[in-house]
Amino acid sequence: MATAFICTACGTQYPPGEAPPLTCPVCQDERQFIPETGQGWTDPETLARHHRPVLKLEHGLLGLGCTPDFAIGQRALLLRAAGGNILWDCVAFLDETLVALIRAFGGLSAIAISHPHYYTTMLEWSRAFGGIPIHLHAADREWVMRPGPEILFWEGETRRIAPGITLIRAGGHFPGGTVLHAAEANEGRGALLAGDILQVVADRRHLGFMRSYPNLVPLGEAAVRGIGTALEPWSFESVHGAFWGRVIPTGGKQAVRASIGRHIAALQRPWP
Ligand SMILES: [Zn+2]
Ligand SMILES: [Zn+2]
Repeated sequence: MATAFICTACGTQYPPGEAPPLTCPVCQDERQFIPETGQGWTDPETLARHHRPVLKLEHGLLGLGCTPDFAIGQRALLLRAAGGNILWDCVAFLDETLVALIRAFGGLSAIAISHPHYYTTMLEWSRAFGGIPIHLHAADREWVMRPGPEILFWEGETRRIAPGITLIRAGGHFPGGTVLHAAEANEGRGALLAGDILQVVADRRHLGFMRSYPNLVPLGEAAVRGIGTALEPWSFESVHGAFWGRVIPTGGKQAVRASIGRHIAALQRPWP
């Protein structure tokens, strides 16, 4: 029987086949890496057998992931919205227990993903909830390794996907790099779901802006200024990064401004 193999380094899933792909283009790209042990593969059933779901409330948003961590180790977020819950970003792991738990929270009506590193098993997720739409920015279309009719490519700078829920193209890490603005969060003061388009860093007070996080390639000034320009019209109190615990609960807008200034100053600083 054909298997939809999953890369164990980045979590990207490929169309069903008799054997795994020879390589993973997402890992071969300079923004990722092929592990020292070589390219490895798993499949949804094996992944489900060796991991357990994790659900955790983080500053008002429900995080979804698995233990032990898999691949890049990001977690997804469940966002409550008029018209149904939205899954922000995606994780490769999905089992019957996790589907049942999400159904207990009202299920899902749509999926939106920040960039190709988190596309993972998005089609499995969509189909587990009845073929719900997956919103991806068209500028990253070439990185969809497992296409499907559930994927809706959006173009331009913003896309409202539900009342008070807007996708914003910030670019940078990927040309279509997307963040999500939730206007009703924090009692109407707003929240920004940043993926790693803006990475909430270890101090949980600043953001980092990199072309490659694992290979430490920073974004240049024009890209970082572009992120600032894209976010300037939007107000938000909290910023929710891609990993467990990486949340700036208050002062998010100022943190973004300060971090952009800090990054550009570092780029311009004369040696030493
Ligand atoms: Zn990969
Ligand atoms: Zn990434």
